[in-house]
Amino acid sequence: MGKIAIYPGSFDPITYGHIDIIERATKVFDKVVVAVAYDSGKDSLFSVEERKSFIEKVDWPKGANIEVDAFQGLLVEYVLKKKGNVVVRGLRALSDFEYEFQMALINRKLSEKVETMFLMAGENFSYLSSRTMKEIISLGGSAEAFVPKHVEEALRKKLRK
Ligand code: ADP
Repeated sequence: MGKIAIYPGSFDPITYGHIDIIERATKVFDKVVVAVAYDSGKDSLFSVEERKSFIEKVDWPKGANIEVDAFQGLLVEYVLKKKGNVVVRGLRALSDFEYEFQMALINRKLSEKVETMFLMAGENFSYLSSRTMKEIISLGGSAEAFVPKHVEEALRKKLRK
């Protein structure tokens, strides 16, 4: 049976950093499920439906086996429900490490069946975060190099009233 990776996150909105991680994951796994979190513990700018549609509209490489979904509740339960084998998370700087390490170990305690694997984005994307995208656009800057066009337009519509 094919190996299924679940890539959970807020994706509020998706950036080229996330996209880089997803494309790398598709090369390692047979299928990648990008799972948008309802309860991310953060106040989100976009609704889950908006965040999902931004991901669906990305110009993915031909043949890439990507499913976009949303989930609520415990991640490990969702992973088992989707018949996933691995949770993929991205690492940027050292500052991501502590939180990610804690989450990975907690998820392992919750279910021994779910492994977490970390991928690093290319260095051109590793400094990107959804939060800084919102700041750039609010301040009138261009995020063209950091997010797809449809995402930049949506950010502009939402943040520049
Ligand atoms: P969450 O709210 O769950 O942290 P995010 O959408 O902020 O969701 O991020 C999802 C995952 O992608 C996290 O593991 C995060 O560290 C990773 N990630 C986000 N941006 C980048 C990037 N530019 N390079 C590498 N990993 C990233």
